[in-house]
Formats: sequence, structure tokens, C-alpha cells
Amino acid sequence: TYVVTEACIKCKYMDCVEVCPVDCFYEGDNMLVINPSECIDCGVCEPECPAEAILPDTEDGLEKWLEVNTKYSEEW
Ligand code: SF4
Repeated sequence: TYVVTEACIKCKYMDCVEVCPVDCFYEGDNMLVINPSECIDCGVCEPECPAEAILPDTEDGLEKWLEVNTKYSEEW
């Protein structure tokens, strides 16, 4: 799955939401999140993010953000 990270906080761009083929972006408190169980790992959103906030969860150190994405997307 891809995860939304710190740089998204208070970002007003929604480019990622528009390109996601499975509509798996959700609104958290002050940022967008990706639902890990719906994301199909297509990678289309990553280059669309002007804040470069979207990263694959295979990168190191993203455990905390994966938790944040899971928590907020499951509240919907
Ligand atoms: Fe949506 Fe693809 Fe991004 Fe996953 S990787 S959030 S499916 S655009």
C-alpha cells in the first residue's frame, strides 16, 4: 500500500484524490489518508502529490504513518 505522510498536513491539494482509480483516499483530522486495505498499489497518486507526501510503505520508517492512515480511513 501507499501511505500519506507528514507533508500532507494542512495541504489543500486534492490532486491525489482525483487520480486514484479505487477512491481510497479519506479525510483525517488535518490531512488525507489512504485506506491500506483498499489501495491497489498502482502508484498513480505518488507523482501527483505537490507536497511529495505520498510514499510506498516499503520505505523505512513509515510504520507510524501507516498506523495513522489505517486509523483515520477506518473511521469512515
Ligand atoms: Fe489509489 Fe493507486 Fe494511490 Fe493506492 S497507489 S492510493 S490505489 S492512486
